[in-house]
Amino acid sequence: MAALTSYQAKRRFNVTKEPRGKLGKRGHAFVIQKHAARRLHYDLRLQLDGVMKSWAVARGPSLVPGDKRLAVQVEDHPIAYNKFEGTIPEGEYGGGTVMVWDRGHWRPEGDPHRGLAKGQLSFHLAGKKLHGGWHLMRMRKRPGDKRNNWLLIKQRDDAARTTRDRDILMERPLSVKTGRTLEEIAQHKRKTKRKTTKRQKRKVKRAKRR
Ligand code: MN
Repeated sequence: MAALTSYQAKRRFNVTKEPRGKLGKRGHAFVIQKHAARRLHYDLRLQLDGVMKSWAVARGPSLVPGDKRLAVQVEDHPIAYNKFEGTIPEGEYGGGTVMVWDRGHWRPEGDPHRGLAKGQLSFHLAGKKLHGGWHLMRMRKRPGDKRNNWLLIKQRDDAARTTRDRDILMERPLSVKTGRTLEEIAQHKRKTKRKTTKRQKRKVKRAKRR
């Protein structure tokens, strides 16, 4: 049964701007959030059963099928978290800057519940940056491991690259939500000047008439 008790217990919602969240609808959204916490990492989230199943990918996704990227499974997140971009205060859980690095939809190969239980989840991503097939493979738990460690691996297909190609993390470093860098998000900078809203335009018109 999906729940957000662990997510909510870790956070003080009077201090952080992260959403409290609630169980959401079924669907297959995915998001990857670039998170400059104590260590920079990329949080992969796949919507399943009204929550976002989440993994912290230490070095971020790689388009090279030979690269196995450690993906530590973390607590389920609310769907509302997909829109979160901003700064978590220092000293709070996950303190640091969060960027919406990629987003779109995912499609499991076969039954995703079975895949998660088995520790072998294969899926396709249709995002702004990431496409094609991927595997998440759970590693055997060693004594003392508190979390489940998985490996994120690109499948061999048209969206795959070789080690000679550019690294997608370097090639596309900006937010897909606002076009900002991590630094701009941390400084609460807007990438572009905010457009005048229709309401403001009407106000100006009215003022001119007077
Ligand atoms: Mn994180």
